[in-house]
Amino acid sequence: MTLSKGVWKMATEKSAVFIIFGGSGDLAHRKLYPALYRLYQAGMLKDHFAVIGTARRPWSDEYFRETVITSLEDFDDDKEKMTAFAQHFFYQSHNVNDSEHYIALKELAAKLDDKFDAGHNRVYYMAIAPRFFGTVAEHIKSEGLKTDGGYNRLVIEKPFGRDLASATELNDSLSRVFPEDEVYRIDHYLGKKMIQEISNIRMKNPTFEEALNSKYVSNIQVTLGESLGVEDRGGYYETSGALRDMVQNHIMQIIGSIAMDKPEELSAEAVHKVKTDLFASLKVLQPEEVKTEFVRGQYDTDNLGDQKAYRDEDNVDENSNIETYVAGRIEFSDDRWNGTPFYVRSGKRMPAKSSRIDIVFNDKVKDLGIKPNTTVSFLIEPEDGHSILINGIDYLEANQDFLKFPEDKTYFDNAREAYESLIIDILAGDHVHFTLWDELQSTWKYIDAVREQWDVEEPDFPNYLSGTMGPEAADTLLERDGNSWVWDD
Ligand code: NAD
Repeated sequence: MTLSKGVWKMATEKSAVFIIFGGSGDLAHRKLYPALYRLYQAGMLKDHFAVIGTARRPWSDEYFRETVITSLEDFDDDKEKMTAFAQHFFYQSHNVNDSEHYIALKELAAKLDDKFDAGHNRVYYMAIAPRFFGTVAEHIKSEGLKTDGGYNRLVIEKPFGRDLASATELNDSLSRVFPEDEVYRIDHYLGKKMIQEISNIRMKNPTFEEALNSKYVSNIQVTLGESLGVEDRGGYYETSGALRDMVQNHIMQIIGSIAMDKPEELSAEAVHKVKTDLFASLKVLQPEEVKTEFVRGQYDTDNLGDQKAYRDEDNVDENSNIETYVAGRIEFSDDRWNGTPFYVRSGKRMPAKSSRIDIVFNDKVKDLGIKPNTTVSFLIEPEDGHSILINGIDYLEANQDFLKFPEDKTYFDNAREAYESLIIDILAGDHVHFTLWDELQSTWKYIDAVREQWDVEEPDFPNYLSGTMGPEAADTLLERDGNSWVWDD
């Protein structure tokens, strides 16, 4: 496989015909159309692009365009510009199983390519239920939608399978049509500004980079906490749970950004090589270890009885054993990290929304009566930034202060939104911020070992109150090692 090198992404105009499968859906309207509009505002999409939305409903182009304009309601921009943008949008009613519809789609794409001079470039975006991914890809092949003379890029959303076996099956069906270098698997955390800043901060600060290993780091903590419950997504959540929904993809990819070895260069190929090596060194747990290294939880009502327990949510089984909280202690066997625990947790109905990475350094200078510089925290949400706990000049008094960046809270206001940034990468052919199949295989193997043990044990659910930090066992997990969570309510 040859991955494109990290491409310098200037705000130059790009040309492509986007085919969005699931063009009437939530993801398309909430994320994709606003992201495409931002690229239009920036001039990266201008005259040479078209978007075909496909879905089952029999919409007209005019109606589709109205929905696109409605999806831009948060933009403080003139209506004329939005209308001009929407003129690039076309609708094709489509059933994933109907070959005739793909032939019509192919003809429409070719016509629009001519009309907008889009260079035979195609972006096929799967904003559709995962069970359709394979069928759509097979029809793209059998009905000959792929073009010659331009690029063909497949964009695929999570979840990528529900275990290693189903992910392998899915990958096999996609790879018969799209080789790995044409596949862009989205993990939108990798599009977030602060996550992308991590490699910058690491590579541009040798002192920090040199200290990122088990000699200096006591433990690394990754938290993706949400204050909301499952809201109206109970049906989806019942097939997923926190382990599959958050750890297998987002948390593992965040760990990849902070813990991968230094790549030889910042090309997609070099970055993915070190990430793949890291994930290949995950210490997969034995069934007995799952009991001590992983904790699961499910939210109950709150202490006033005001909030719905998970089992009372819409479309949730009243005896559901799906976890809404997970905490775990992950280890790697590579030279850099052997012996350093990575504590991870993700939960719904926690006291606040908070996505963060806390790096806790060893306190090797304790004996000298000096308090060590203990933590570097990367704050991903709700506010981007990072902070370093650092000793003041009066170190014998052990004055400590947080150096916070950015001090100016508006610093990240103009940062690109995750989907905008990822679509730019797709148009530029840059794979750095996408997930590769080799990485997924290793992370699924790890997650499967936890899930398989959980599936043969009856959990004692519900086991934490809404608005709390999760089950107590999640604290014990760290206390056992003499550690504690940095983010604590
Ligand atoms: P949705 O239910 O809102 O939209 C699904 C789309 O698929 C609709 O346009 C629908 O008309 C179309 N569709 C359904 N059955 C079809 C068929 N037989 N033939 C043709 N079209 C059909 O779903 P969504 O929330 O937009 O999610 C889409 C994908 O993105 C899913 O894979 C989901 O897991 C993933 N995803 C969504 C979000 C999000 O924020 N919504 C976030 C991450 C990943």
